Amino acid sequence: MKVILNFFKKIFSASDEGDVADLERSNSQSQVKVYSRSEHNISRSQMSENAVKVLYRLKKSGYEAYLVGGCVRDLLLGYEPKDFDVATDASPEQVKKVFRNCRIIGRRFRLAHVFFGREIIEVATFRSSDDAADNKEQKVHEDGRLLRDNVFGSIEDDVWRRDFTVNALYYNIRDFSIIDYTGGMDDHSAGVLKLIGDPATRYREDPVRMLRAVRFAVKLGFSIDESTEKPIFELAPLLKGIPAARLYDEVLKMFLSGKGIQAFEMLRHYGLFETLFPQADHCLNNEQNNFPRVFIAKALENSDKRIADDKSVTPYFLMAAFLWEAVQDLAKEKMRQGEEESFAYQHAASNVLSAQTKSISIPKRVTQSMREVWLLQLRFEKRIGGRPYRLLGHPRFRAAYDFLVLRAETGGAEMELAQWWTKFQDASDTEQKKMTRPPRKRKAKPKTKRKNSDND
Ligand code: ATP
Ligand code: MG
Repeated sequence: MKVILNFFKKIFSASDEGDVADLERSNSQSQVKVYSRSEHNISRSQMSENAVKVLYRLKKSGYEAYLVGGCVRDLLLGYEPKDFDVATDASPEQVKKVFRNCRIIGRRFRLAHVFFGREIIEVATFRSSDDAADNKEQKVHEDGRLLRDNVFGSIEDDVWRRDFTVNALYYNIRDFSIIDYTGGMDDHSAGVLKLIGDPATRYREDPVRMLRAVRFAVKLGFSIDESTEKPIFELAPLLKGIPAARLYDEVLKMFLSGKGIQAFEMLRHYGLFETLFPQADHCLNNEQNNFPRVFIAKALENSDKRIADDKSVTPYFLMAAFLWEAVQDLAKEKMRQGEEESFAYQHAASNVLSAQTKSISIPKRVTQSMREVWLLQLRFEKRIGGRPYRLLGHPRFRAAYDFLVLRAETGGAEMELAQWWTKFQDASDTEQKKMTRPPRKRKAKPKTKRKNSDND
């Protein structure tokens, strides 16, 4: 039975002390829907055992405990969640007292991590998102961005600071029901992503929500509600103000989801790709040259296919593909100015990477591999003598070779060159020797003996 409750402050709350703002909010958003166990398809058997343990232990210690966020959303779709997030009215310190295997982390939000071997269950205390400007625990940037947000609250506070309605569903361990304050269950059934509250304000608070909209739309196959979609076109540039360190993980999740090509198309559509990869976007906008477009699309398609086949994918390969045209353009420019080819490419690679890491802080080991993949492309041209053997032994050979094949398939390198390397790898010793032998010089015509030569 669907229970619709008119709820007032404190019905679900255990921690708040009755301030006016809360009362106003509960009056304006006064309906909560509770879906009992028989009205939804989530069962404990689908959950991580450790998450269930955490929920029960908190409950036994007298606290409220819910699964919330992506795990509830994914379980409703029958997907296996990536991780399980727990929300509770216990403070991080109280959580730490309940679990020995627990650590408090985070500055922007303080959270408790409960460790079970390699699995971590994240336990977050209900947070309030009241915009009390003088609140010491909450700090807002002048452009509206939330910098720190550590105001603890009750479940009905916690709901409103979440991003999408489908991410604000709470699975209650007390009676296995799902609590829905924002209409998330209906949106979930309709396959719609809707931001909670005024979309433009929510994007200004945290522009990463624009990337999350794209990521979830692609991952879940949901559409983005019109009011949630519209402000993105205008607000996309706000992403430039996000610290580069925060964007790397978000970008990886986006492109290594198995639906990278769709994510790419959508990011381009909303003008978000430009804020993440400005140099690549610049090359993509060159109407005379279709190569980058075809090349990047093919790289993403291949990577999606590998993920579908359960094969490994590496972030550096895709990022190297995104920026290849920019590296080439710059290297050619440097060569026109008189730099020797290999120096020109080395310098171009450094310049492109240092400009890129201003937007997204790509870890050093990743940029190093991107660089290697680019620079090895020049060495494929050298097919005589010992050089091909040395290249074959290079730790980044395989990736660089795949990159060469991709270039050849999309018109950016000679197919004959790629085929030569395909053959060379599997060739027998004798055949390899033959392939790398210098071409025979044409026999010079026998000189006709001159009579009365000076040398005679
Ligand atoms: P997934 O784990 O599949 O990437 P998720 O929705 O669980 O998706 P998380 O980053 O794990 O994403 O966040 C957990 C929950 O925290 C979200 O479902 C949402 O309710 C809330 N949340 C996360 N990031 C934000 C944000 N930037 N703004 C508002 N709420 C957020
Ligand atoms: Mg999650």
